[in-house]
Amino acid sequence: MMASAARPVDPEGRAARFIALVEHETTHDRLVWGMRQNRDKAAAGVPDWEKLRDLASQIKEHTLSHLDEYLEQFERNATKLGTQVHWARDAEEHNTIVHDILSKHGVKSLIKSKSMLQEECGMTPFLQRRGIEVTESDLGERIQQLSHEPPSHIVVPAIHKLRSDVATLFAQDLGTDPKNSDPHYLAEAMRENARPRFLEAGAGMTGANFAIAETGGFVVCTNEGNADIGASVPPLHIASIGIEKLIPRASDLGIFLRMLSRSALGSPLTQYTSHFHGPRHGGELHVVLVDHTRSDRLGSPDFWHALKCIRCGACMNTCPVYRRSGGLSYGATYAGPIGVILDPGFDLDKYRELPFHSSLCGSCTQVCPVKIDISDQIYKWRRVMAEKGLLKLSKKVGMSALGTTLSHSTLFHGGEAVGESAIAYLPRFLLYNSLNPWGKHRELPTPPKQTFRQWYIANRRKA
Ligand code: SF4
Repeated sequence: MMASAARPVDPEGRAARFIALVEHETTHDRLVWGMRQNRDKAAAGVPDWEKLRDLASQIKEHTLSHLDEYLEQFERNATKLGTQVHWARDAEEHNTIVHDILSKHGVKSLIKSKSMLQEECGMTPFLQRRGIEVTESDLGERIQQLSHEPPSHIVVPAIHKLRSDVATLFAQDLGTDPKNSDPHYLAEAMRENARPRFLEAGAGMTGANFAIAETGGFVVCTNEGNADIGASVPPLHIASIGIEKLIPRASDLGIFLRMLSRSALGSPLTQYTSHFHGPRHGGELHVVLVDHTRSDRLGSPDFWHALKCIRCGACMNTCPVYRRSGGLSYGATYAGPIGVILDPGFDLDKYRELPFHSSLCGSCTQVCPVKIDISDQIYKWRRVMAEKGLLKLSKKVGMSALGTTLSHSTLFHGGEAVGESAIAYLPRFLLYNSLNPWGKHRELPTPPKQTFRQWYIANRRKA
């Protein structure tokens, strides 16, 4: 696990700022929860959904347990197809390899489709600093690029924005009417702006959803078809692929494709499922296989299951904390429950607070199509933070006081009695004031007349 001198992100403070934008927060919650409901309907329409989840999980676990063999098989078969395969140990190596390929071809302008891995590697700023113009071709990603913000969701990157935000942004950058927030009008404006860039670009970059060891090919799923244009118009195509994206056989693909879009948006398939097997006629295809902490994670008994993730976003859509606080509150490449378990693996100090940005309700684990034990891993990351002494002072003091109270029955029963009276008789302003953020959004329930212990002593102890 890497650690840095970067200041820890403050998800609480960031969330508070998002929640203060009431319309943004309620719209975000409604839209994201809508995706979760669509996912439920889509999953209910597949009679063997739970069997598919089991199968997908088993295939991923098998692949990860034999990853070295499958990676070498993929390289052999991809090379036979004419693909040039590169290996990157970390983000820096990935970016350097991409830059070298672009420089060799004299590329000054690049068009790319959405790739969380390239985001993870900080590729766009790396290339821009070296004079290469990078344009996102996915609408949501382009909105985020023009806003100078990272994606807030792995499937719908600008979901935290209102239509009016996009109208204002496009008016500034693309010269559209700031009062017109019609999505068709805005999407068309973005297309008009992007098309000349597609034609001028010297290279197209994509990620990959799945890489197939048996064939040496890979698959990119999008709903806008933007990856296909980027990969087909310029003569040079570079794909960044995390080593965990491997699956053994082409016949495994159907299982994942049936689950991916249903889990993400509730649709049976993505609009475009594009298969790439070698370079197109007269073109060049490069694949960069990226490790960037994945091998470390694979060696961790507690956290290796996170590598099964197929980036569907279902865990984000169901998470009550993500829905209310928005993806940018995590201050990291990956938001939501999957972010909480991935980000500390990149930088323990910086993301020390993220495992506490969760209610531990377990809903993420229930919807995950590849059965990742997300909530267990969140709990385990909390333990890591405590063992490494990375808890905030308030948490340390609070937890230690709670630990002492819960391990001494006299203290616990005393506290229980005091608490009951306090809730019943304390003046309201002592509980509901600006110094107690908990009380801003909740009412304490009326305490029962009798605690369970009192009831038990009265009714059962004698029997
Ligand atoms: S952890 Fe599971 S639910 Fe979340 S994005 Fe990954 S595959 Fe989807």
